[in-house]
Amino acid sequence: MKKIVVLGAGYAGLKTVVELQKKLKGQVEITLVDQNDYHYEATDLHEVASGNLPASKITFPISDVLNPQMTTLLLDRVTKVDPANRQVALANHAPLTYDYCVFALGFVSETFGIKGAKANSLPMTNVDEAVAIHDHIVAQMKDYRQSQDPNDLKIIICGAGFTGIELAGAVADARPRYAQLAGVTPDQVTIDIIDASKRLLPMFNDQLAAYGVNLLKKLNVQITTEALIQEIQPATVLYKGANDEEGTPLHKVTGNTIIWTTGVSGSPVVAESGLPQRRGRVMDSDHLTAPDDDQLYMAGDVSAVIPPAGKRPYPTTAQIALSMANYIAKDIAARVKGTSRPGAYTYKSLGTVASVGNTRAFGEASGHSFKGYPASVLKKIIMNKSLMELGGFKELFAKGRFDLYH
Ligand SMILES: Cc1cc2nc3c(=O)[nH]c(=O)nc-3n(C[C@H](O)[C@H](O)[C@H](O)COP(=O)(O)OP(=O)(O)OC[C@H]3O[C@@H](n4cnc5c(N)ncnc54)[C@H](O)[C@@H]3O)c2cc1C
Repeated sequence: MKKIVVLGAGYAGLKTVVELQKKLKGQVEITLVDQNDYHYEATDLHEVASGNLPASKITFPISDVLNPQMTTLLLDRVTKVDPANRQVALANHAPLTYDYCVFALGFVSETFGIKGAKANSLPMTNVDEAVAIHDHIVAQMKDYRQSQDPNDLKIIICGAGFTGIELAGAVADARPRYAQLAGVTPDQVTIDIIDASKRLLPMFNDQLAAYGVNLLKKLNVQITTEALIQEIQPATVLYKGANDEEGTPLHKVTGNTIIWTTGVSGSPVVAESGLPQRRGRVMDSDHLTAPDDDQLYMAGDVSAVIPPAGKRPYPTTAQIALSMANYIAKDIAARVKGTSRPGAYTYKSLGTVASVGNTRAFGEASGHSFKGYPASVLKKIIMNKSLMELGGFKELFAKGRFDLYH
C-alpha cells in the first residue's frame, strides 16, 4: 500500500488529507504530522491576539476530521525532509518514509534582519503567539493602575499589510475593554501602526485601499507611512523617514506593546531540507511538486506559483492553500489509481476581503467592491466556507461566525 506523509495540519495539509480520505478510501496509508493536536484558522489569529475571540473559537481537534482506518496523526515537530531518501526527520520519533510527501508547514514571522525585532516585539503567527499578545496587553493595562506609565497604554503595530490592518481593527474594537482594565477612558489607549510603504494595501485598488485606511483613521488609529524601521529597542521603535535628509536623527515611537506584522516567510524546515528556496518558499512545478522531485509536493505558504501572465508569485493565502490541496489530492489519487493525471495547476482568486473590527470590512469578490457592514458579512461567510471545507458541518456549527446582524 502506498504511504503518503502530510506535514502540517493547516489549510493546505488538512484539506489534502480530507480529500485523500474521500478519493482513496482504503487504498493508501496516510500519516499526518503536526506539532499540535488542533487545527487553527490562521486567518483569525488577530481576533485571539486582541482578545475579541478565545483561542477555542478558532481551533478544532484534528482528530475530528480523520478517518482512523486510513490516517494516523503523529504529534511531533518536523525537523527536516530528506528528498533523496524519501524520509522525514522528526524531533521525537523515528524518521518516516514515504511514497508521496505533502510539505505544508506554513509560515513564520520574518524580521528582515532588523535589529532587536525578535527580542523586543511580539510575533503573531500561531495560536500560542496570539494568546501571548493578548496576555501581554492585559498585563500592561493592569500594570498601568500602579505604574501610571503612559507607555503601558500604547500599542504599536509594525507593518500595515493585510495582517497589521486586520489586527489594528480588532485591537480598536477591544479598546474599551483595555481601558476598563487600566481604569482610563478608551481614547487614552493609543494604537499606532507603522509601515515603510507610501501606498498601503497594494492588493486593493486605490479607492478600496483609501477606504480601508480611512476606516482605521476614524477608529483613531495613528498611521505612519514611509517609515523605514531600523531597530526595535525595549518599548521603542526607531525609524528613518523615507524623505529624511542625511544625518536626520532616527524617529522614536514608544510603547510597552510592540507587535511585529511586517511579513512572513515559509517554514525554516524548507531551507533546513536543502530545497531551492527564497524566504522559505519553493518555486513549484506545474503539478505543485518541488523542482526535480515528483514525489514531494509543496503546498500553501511554503510554495510559490507564478500566474501565467505575471512575474511575481501569487500572494500566500488560505484561499490558494485550499485550492492547492484540492489539486494535490486529485493528482495523488490519479497516480495511485493509475489513471491520467490532471493538467497543470491553475488558480483563480475568488477575491480578497479585509476586516477592520467585527462589523467593518472592505474588499473585492467576483469583480465587485464591497465596503463597510456588507463587506463584514461577506468576510464572515468566506471564513465559514473555509471552516466548512476543512471541518464539515460539525466544526461549522461549533465554531462558525453567525453574528451577521448587529
Ligand atoms: C492575521 C492573519 C489574517 C489572514 N487573513 C487571511 C484572509 O483573510 N484570507 C486568506 O486567504 N489568507 C489570510 N491569511 C493568510 C493565511 O492564514 C495563510 O496563507 C495560510 O494559513 C497558509 O496555510 P498553510 O496550510 O500553508 O499553513 P498554516 O495554516 O500556517 O498551517 C501550518 C501547519 O503546520 C504546523 N507546523 C508548522 N511547523 C511545523 C513543524 N516544524 N512540525 C510540525 N508541524 C508544524 C502548524 O502547527 C500548522 O498546523 C491571514 C494570515 C494572518 C496571520
